[in-house]
Parts: sequence; C-alpha cells; structure tokens
Amino acid sequence: AKASGRNNFQWFHPKMLDETNDRMTMASALRHAISARELSIAYQPQVDLRTGRVEGFEALARWRSREYGSVPPDQFIPVAEDSGMIVQLGGWVLRRACRDVASFQRVLGRPLKLAVNVSPRQFRSSSWFAEVVGALKDSGLQPSQLELEITEGILMDDRWEVLDLLSSLRDLGISIAVDDFGRGYSSLAYLTRFPVDKLKIDRSFIREIVAESHAPIVDAIIVMGHALGVSIVAEGVESRDQEHYLRSRGCDEAQGYLYSAGVPAEDAVRTVQAIGVF
Ligand code: C2E
Ligand code: CA
Ligand code: CA
Ligand code: CA
Repeated sequence: AKASGRNNFQWFHPKMLDETNDRMTMASALRHAISARELSIAYQPQVDLRTGRVEGFEALARWRSREYGSVPPDQFIPVAEDSGMIVQLGGWVLRRACRDVASFQRVLGRPLKLAVNVSPRQFRSSSWFAEVVGALKDSGLQPSQLELEITEGILMDDRWEVLDLLSSLRDLGISIAVDDFGRGYSSLAYLTRFPVDKLKIDRSFIREIVAESHAPIVDAIIVMGHALGVSIVAEGVESRDQEHYLRSRGCDEAQGYLYSAGVPAEDAVRTVQAIGVF
C-alpha cells in the first residue's frame, strides 16, 4: 500500500511487534533507515503564552519505512532503544534538527529555540556529550538555544554520573526539561537535587483541565515549579479553553494541535508566520 499525501499516514499495526522476530526484523530495517533516507523530523512549535509568539520547536522523529509504512515513534523509539540503535538515531536527529533550526532562524531573522528528546540509553552513552557539542558547533546554534527533554526515569537513576552530566550540559548553557511530568513517579525531591529548567506537563492532565478533574494537579505543578524557579510548558493543548485556563494560571508555554502538529522542515517557517497572525 502507498501513502498518499502527508496527512494520510498508513499506520503500523502494533500486532506486528508481537513476535521477537518481528522486533529484530524491525531493528534491522531501522538500522538502514538513516542511510536509506527514510527518517525525517517533524517540528512542533512551542508558543509563549504571554506574547503568543513561537519561541521554538520540538523535534519529533518520523520514520516512513519502505517495508512497514509510517511507523509512529511510540513503536520505533522503543525498538531503537532496546537494540542500541537509539544512539545513532538520536545523534542524527540532534545534528539534523540543529542545522534545520539554524536555517529557519536565518529566514525569520530572529533566534529560535530547539527542544530535542533524549532517551535514557542515549543519555548514558559515552559519546553523548561530545555529540551535543559537535551538533552546536556544526550548526552555529548557541547552547542557550538548545533544550534537552529527558524523562523522569533518567533522574530516578541515582548514579552520580547523571548529576555530573546534567551539570556539565547546564554549564555550557543548555537547558534541561523534564518531559511527561506527572505521568511517572514525579518526585518533588529530584527537582531540588538536579539542575532542571523546565517541566512539561503531560498531555493526559491537559486533556482534562476544562472538565476540571485534573485542574488541581495542573495548578499545583505550575505553583510548585515556579516556587522552585522552573518554567512550565503544557503539552497537548488542543483548545482555546485549555489555553485560556493555562494562561490564567501563569503557565509559561504551550504546545499542541491548537497551534500546529509537527510539520516537515519545509513548512516550519510558514507555520511560525501563520501562528503569529492571530
Ligand atoms: P513526546 O516527547 O511527549 O512528544 C509529544 C507527542 O505528542 C508527539 O507524538 C506529538 O506529535 C504529540 N502531540 C503534540 N501535540 C498534541 C496534541 O495537541 N494532542 C495530542 N493528542 N498529541 C499531541 P509523537 O511525535 O508520536 O511522538 C511520540 C513520542 O515518541 C514522543 O513523545 C517522544 O517520547 C518519542 N520521540 C519522538 N521523537 C523522538 C526522538 O527523536 N528521540 C527520542 N528519544 N524520542 C522521541
Ligand atoms: Ca518530548
Ligand atoms: Ca511529552
Ligand atoms: Ca513521551
């Protein structure tokens, strides 16, 4: 089957992952994805809730496989993680995204931020720090423009290297965001122990704020984060009602389909301009 048009994906069926054999086959297909030019990046705008302006993008990996069709990242990232391929794949995303964002800002004439997802295995790889430095040098982006989105799991790993690595990245001027905040173990203690700049409230909480069942949790995360000097991003914002609520509570930034889904690099500048028009 073929995909027709960029909004018409042919989704990979989860059942195909049932067998270890299939996972291994997928891992080997993924191994060739970079050189086969099957990987790309979707850029999703992040909006400042006070000004309404796009501050930057989150880079989201996309894989359109010759064999499997469009495979969602929730399927192929775990495969890449388990097989160790994530180190190579994540390195590619980082370098590519830095270069793309450097070119978007040349067109727009103002600096933009870039958020990149970092999985635990990647974060633990010995080459990671050098790759980050290399991607910045190669693209000309300033360290202050790069934000690394890590998961709570990384912070629960109590080995000293985590603190050491985060501190080194921070010393360069790179920001650290905790992704999917509230979904996992969410310990307040680690926010005081680790150098974290941002919390991204998991979209499962944002979905419910207008119905109010999750409003107290969202309120608490915003108040607590601000008290600790951490800025707050809401992800999965889909409606004006959600946006108004978040703005009234002092949430700093928002990201979600209300503004735009992730778009291919060639549409990123136009998307920023369209959001600025409201
Ligand atoms: P994430 O980091 O939490 O990324 C946000 C996900 O929410 C993205 O899904 C995005 O397309 C989706 N999303 C954005 N706005 C909305 C909205 O308003 N409503 C709803 N319902 N969804 C929204 P996506 O692109 O399928 O990525 C899934 C996950 O895969 C990401 O979750 C992230 O954990 C992982 N991922 C994606 N790219 C990379 C990568 O380059 N490296 C690593 N390590 N993980 C990645
Ligand atoms: Ca993320
Ligand atoms: Ca997230
Ligand atoms: Ca996630």
